[in-house]
Amino acid sequence: MTADDVVTIVGAGPVGTLMALLLARRGHRVRLIERRADPRTQTPERGRSINLALAARGLRALEHAAILESVRPEMVRMPGRILHETGEPPRFWPYGQSDDEVIWSISRAHLNRALIIAAAAQGGIELQFDRRCIDLDTQSGEVVWQDDGGLTHREPAHTLIAADGAGSAIRHAMQSRDLCQVTEEELPHDYKELHIPSRADGTHALAMHGLHIWPRGGFMLIALPNTDGSFTATLFLARHGDESFARLHDARAVRDFFSRHFADVLPLIPDLDQQFATHPQSQLATLHCWPWQSGRTLLIGDAAHAIVPFHGQGLNCGFEDCLRLDALMAQQPDPARAFARFEADRRLDTDAIAIMALENYQEMRDQVLRPDFVQRRELALALERLYPARFIPRYGMVMFHPEISYADALQRGHTQERLLDALIAEGLAPDSGRAASLLDEAGL
Ligand SMILES: Cc1cc2nc3c(=O)[nH]c(=O)nc-3n(C[C@H](O)[C@H](O)[C@H](O)COP(=O)(O)OP(=O)(O)OC[C@H]3O[C@@H](n4cnc5c(N)ncnc54)[C@H](O)[C@@H]3O)c2cc1C
Repeated sequence: MTADDVVTIVGAGPVGTLMALLLARRGHRVRLIERRADPRTQTPERGRSINLALAARGLRALEHAAILESVRPEMVRMPGRILHETGEPPRFWPYGQSDDEVIWSISRAHLNRALIIAAAAQGGIELQFDRRCIDLDTQSGEVVWQDDGGLTHREPAHTLIAADGAGSAIRHAMQSRDLCQVTEEELPHDYKELHIPSRADGTHALAMHGLHIWPRGGFMLIALPNTDGSFTATLFLARHGDESFARLHDARAVRDFFSRHFADVLPLIPDLDQQFATHPQSQLATLHCWPWQSGRTLLIGDAAHAIVPFHGQGLNCGFEDCLRLDALMAQQPDPARAFARFEADRRLDTDAIAIMALENYQEMRDQVLRPDFVQRRELALALERLYPARFIPRYGMVMFHPEISYADALQRGHTQERLLDALIAEGLAPDSGRAASLLDEAGL
């Protein structure tokens, strides 16, 4: 790639902006096109998840781009789950076994703003807001966009990275020309976000440090802390059926549902009726797209592989995409080759995290309530304490061990499950010699 070539990135969300920063730091000239207004001058949109969980993969990428310290004051430490079972006092379940095995809640808007500020301060990035990409002319290599007055423009984009999210216009353009195949695996469950305000004195109305979960078998409520004393809660619930969004058609039904299932939350959301009626009910899906690349055009982040949010990894995975692609573009001057290598190397990992994210929904809403699950978890943690280099619970591999790929975490996770099955079936303790020989046999 010559120094005169500009890399066009569509979508100044977290993934597109981080990618722009990394490439500009290597000396590339980058044009970053975003449909929304400049977040440095606008108040954030409500309705999309207000905060998200960052884990080791995301932190590593932010550190690499030297912006972790600027967002750290906005991060709230979450060392474990706080489970709210019906009629029981809340129970704390640590995520890991050491002080650094924690995840962090961060405001999406703050993270995005911090990335945009860093991009604006970085030479070589041209930021263009209020420009909605509507097509990619694959013949001429031009991106087609609309300004906020509805006028259409065309611009050359010989090297194009599309980070325009799950509804990617660039992916649609590729798909309409048969350059990629797309399927969406829609979940029959939707979600709705609710705001739990701080107490009058500004403190958190629930324990601040933890990811609160109200598991109810077929559905669940979660809440992540914000730095201002509030929480963002999310209700995940079937679209149709006995307990479903379809049944929550008026304020009375909503209050009745909350008083039956989340009685402790009801007093914390005084304007529940209004919030429930006005906040959007949004869908969840896993997006399968292949290929991600066509010559010098590449899809990354949610545009290529959006997943359901139950492992808290969509953004962490998108940030990891940026690190991988940056390293490949540093080694390979031809973007088309770097893009081809990226999609060939990365697919197994994104497929693996898509599977684990779906499985984690079952775990969060249902399995955590089951005694056999609790027993397996305790056994797994004991094995990790005894053999820290050889047995790491899958959740830990995904969240705290970025040196283990998602694909390896999935595969090792299966091997470890079989080992746990054998120990439980034989009624053996983790420190028995048999556990060590099972580890040897499994190649762990
Ligand atoms: C309820 C929920 C909770 C989540 N929680 C977590 C979590 O805890 N941890 C985690 O890691 N992930 C989480 N995720 C996933 C995470 O939000 C996404 O993986 C992440 O936002 C993807 O980043 P992105 O930059 O690829 O896409 P996006 O964040 O969608 O950004 C895309 C950008 O492109 C812009 N754009 C879109 N179309 C166009 C266009 N035509 N022209 C120009 N610009 C365009 C958009 O305005 C936006 O700025 C969650 C998702 C949901 C839905």
